[in-house]
Amino acid sequence: MFFLDPLDWRYEYRLDEERKKTAARRTPPIRIFEMYNKTVILTFDDAVSNHCTFVAPLLKELGFNATFFVCEFPPDFATDKVQYMSWEQIEELDNMGFEVANHTLTHAGLGNITPAEFEKQLLDLEALFRSHGIPKSENFAYPGGPGAAYAAPILQKHGFKTARTVRSAAWNVVMDDCWLVPSIPVHGPDDSALKKALDLATTDEIPVLLYHGVPDILHTWVDTPPEIFEREMRYLAAEEWTVLALRDITNLW
Ligand SMILES: [Zn+2]
Repeated sequence: MFFLDPLDWRYEYRLDEERKKTAARRTPPIRIFEMYNKTVILTFDDAVSNHCTFVAPLLKELGFNATFFVCEFPPDFATDKVQYMSWEQIEELDNMGFEVANHTLTHAGLGNITPAEFEKQLLDLEALFRSHGIPKSENFAYPGGPGAAYAAPILQKHGFKTARTVRSAAWNVVMDDCWLVPSIPVHGPDDSALKKALDLATTDEIPVLLYHGVPDILHTWVDTPPEIFEREMRYLAAEEWTVLALRDITNLW
């Protein structure tokens, strides 16, 4: 297990440099540190339909895990089933063993809503998850990337363990603020962003990779062509990377 009370520990020590130094001298759990070398975490945002029809079967074939941060993306999640998964497809990801996690009900940017609205956004999506047999989320991703100072106590109150941003860096599981987990957007027309992200993997830090649609026809600025994605995933397999979901780490806390 991770220290005595990992969540409280991580929250209490955030941004507290002196105490971080003390924390760094503690002996980390070998189970986590054995995984760091050549380990990446895959995350996919915004419930794009090809996450179920193309991405998940390929990941399954390669023995990879991943976290899918879903929401009912406005304005046409309910009707545009070319772009977005149905709830049955979201359930299917969960049934396949992937992590389905909370990205707010309506992709609500935290800078534009009140703390009370944020809490409702979280809980309304969790209620939908329960109605589809999907377990409680451990991990959260801020819609659009930026967090808000009010979010951490609310996330902690509801049993979340991390919140993912889009700050482009590898994740130091021990030292980074658990409510500001970085991730590296790796979409694009070639594999250069992925290769740069993999270069950041060290014995202390795990790159958390962020994809959107494969392809993403509606949000073209985060598009990844399927042939590029398949080549990237087969490269990770050939190079013997360990490919995890966020909860593969947070389950150990
Ligand atoms: Zn998003």
